[in-house]
Amino acid sequence: MNSPTRYDLDRAALGAMLADQPSYRLDQLWSGLYEHRLEPVDISNLPTALRSRLTEELPTALEPAAESTSENGDTVKWLWTLADGTQIETVLMHYPDRSTVCISTQAGCAMACGFCATGQAGFERHLTVGEIVEQVIRAQRRADERNRRISNVVFMGMGEPLANYDATWATVERLHGAFGLSARHLTVSTVGVVPGIKRLATAPLPVKLAVSLHAANNTLRDELVPLNKRYPIEVLVDACREYLEASGRRISFEWALIDGVNDRPSDAEELAEIAFDLHAHVNLIPLNPTPGFLAQGPPAARVAAFRDELARRGANVTVRRNRGTSIDAACGQLRANVAVAAPTRR
Ligand code: SAH
Repeated sequence: MNSPTRYDLDRAALGAMLADQPSYRLDQLWSGLYEHRLEPVDISNLPTALRSRLTEELPTALEPAAESTSENGDTVKWLWTLADGTQIETVLMHYPDRSTVCISTQAGCAMACGFCATGQAGFERHLTVGEIVEQVIRAQRRADERNRRISNVVFMGMGEPLANYDATWATVERLHGAFGLSARHLTVSTVGVVPGIKRLATAPLPVKLAVSLHAANNTLRDELVPLNKRYPIEVLVDACREYLEASGRRISFEWALIDGVNDRPSDAEELAEIAFDLHAHVNLIPLNPTPGFLAQGPPAARVAAFRDELARRGANVTVRRNRGTSIDAACGQLRANVAVAAPTRR
């Protein structure tokens, strides 16, 4: 592994690094990094010699490789290059009532869902806690320019968070403890890594769980989500029930609506049954087209009909607004057009 970056180190580790300093220096560094999101060299209450030492010892994890902003500036997508040359993406979305950042937990993804651009590209490696946390810090720096505060973090960028559980959980703790976000405003999204769901059920902070379901019978789900062969729907639903009972928190199911594939009345019926039973919330996301999957989202009327059918059967359902499509920053599109956005030598 590469040497640790700035946000890899927890408070104790930074304290050890400052062992030769008066103890209040740790508070100054900690608030410089998390409250003010400064470069070490700009933490002006630290002595100059210490600042330059920290600049060397606490390198940044993310080098900007490309950036795109929607026309009105409400959505920003970054492509970052990591120390070993791998690349990941982060998306910042401002809404009237909140600002959400969507972060990556892995470079690539091993889950191989055919409709997802990250899944099409395959797995490179897990991200470290420093690489994950710094995405939020960078996004907040940008939000600072508009006097906006990041209120929500969704672990829905590249990668499968529960396949990188330890770094994901360390990120949750850091965002909660140091960055000051409420755990209820942190959403971990999984394609159905059952052991991870079970761990999350009894974890000490009440983060929200989203499960990317996409199909409610094993034949179709085996096709769309290869992990279903390892953890079939009945096993996944049991884990969701265990989570609900242990945590008392409702799950949300993500459902990428694919024209003619999982938008039939029978799909609505199967989904409604599971969602109703688990008191879950369903988020419908019309499929964002990706280069490696020849299908589309259904026309608006069919999306509405699917939603209405779920509601009629007593499920709690919303259609997710499609943010970022114009800048290839929408769900499942991350890195789809990197070659266009940023020619890289790899
Ligand atoms: N691996 C995790 C988190 C990353 S994906 C998971 O699967 O939940 C975040 C969400 O985007 C998931 O719900 C995923 O199914 C969805 N998604 C992936 N590709 C998509 C696409 N092409 N169109 C719409 N949603 C997509």
